[in-house]
Amino acid sequence: MEIDYENEGMHYEGYCIRPPSEADSILLQVTLGCSHNKCSFCGSYKDKRFAIKDDKTILSDIRFAAKHMRNQDRLFLMDGDALIIPQKRLLWILQQIQEHLPWVKRVGAYANVKGIKMKTLDELKVLHAHKLGILFYGVETGDDELRQAIHKGSDSQTCIEMGRRVREAGIKLSVTVLLGIGGREKSLQHAKATGELLSAMDPDYVGALTVMLMPGTKLYDEHAAGKFELPDEPGMLRELREMISHTNLSGGLFFSNHASNYLPIKARLPRGKQQALDMIDKALRGEIGLRPEWARAL
Ligand code: SF4
Repeated sequence: MEIDYENEGMHYEGYCIRPPSEADSILLQVTLGCSHNKCSFCGSYKDKRFAIKDDKTILSDIRFAAKHMRNQDRLFLMDGDALIIPQKRLLWILQQIQEHLPWVKRVGAYANVKGIKMKTLDELKVLHAHKLGILFYGVETGDDELRQAIHKGSDSQTCIEMGRRVREAGIKLSVTVLLGIGGREKSLQHAKATGELLSAMDPDYVGALTVMLMPGTKLYDEHAAGKFELPDEPGMLRELREMISHTNLSGGLFFSNHASNYLPIKARLPRGKQQALDMIDKALRGEIGLRPEWARAL
C-alpha cells in the first residue's frame, strides 16, 4: 500500500534542536545529526548517526508544511549541519521550498567549517539567491590550542575565512562562542583569542553561551576526573569582559542573554561596548544580581 506521506505529519527523528531565534520557524529536518559529531563538549546528537534524509521524506514534509504551516514565513533546516548536503541536492531542497512554500522569506541552518568549506563563494551566492538567509555557526573559541583540545576539527584562521565567505555571499552570519570552554587555567587566553577572531570575522550576531557539562561527553568525563575545572561565577564574568573588550565589530550585536549565562547582555558594537563593560564591572562588584545556578539551562 502507498504511504500517505503528506497527511501523516512531519517525519522528525530523535531529539531535534534549533536556535532560540528560530522558535517560530517551520522546522524541516533534512539531515540527521552532525557529520562532525566530535566536539568534546557537545552532546546534542549522540543519539544519531549522521545521514541525509531521503528526497521523498523531505518532499513529503514540505508538502505537509504547505498544507498546515501557512502562517510561518521562516524555515529552519535541521539537524546539525544542513550545509554539508551536496550543492545540487541542497539547491533542489531550496527550490522545493520556494515552489511549495512561496510565503517563506528566509531559510536558516546550522553550519560548521567543514560544511562551508564544501561550498565555493559562488555556490553560497546561489543558495542565498534561493533564500538561504542566515547561517548559525559554532565558533566556540578563537584559541588554536583549545580548538584542538575540544576537537573542533579546524583552526581559527580557517574558521575566520569560512565565516567571511558566508558574509561575502550576502548570508547573515550568527556565531556562538562558549564561555568557560578554556576552563579556569585558560579562561582569559580563550577570551582574548575569541575576541580577536570575532573582530577578524565581523559577524552580524554573536551569541555567548556558557558551557554546561553534559553527561556522555568527553568534557563531562574530563571534569569528573578532575582534569577540567570551570571558572566560578566571577571568573566567567571576567572572561566575558575580556572577550567583549577584545571584540570590535562593525555593527554586529553581541548577546549573552542565553539561559545558560549568569549575566544577560545585549550590546550593539562598537556603540554599546563601554556600557556592556560597565555592566559587567557592576556585576563583579555585586551591584547587579546574577542568574542563579538552578535557573541556568541549555
Ligand atoms: S558542536 Fe556543532 S560541529 Fe561540534 S559536534 Fe556539536 S553539532 Fe557537531
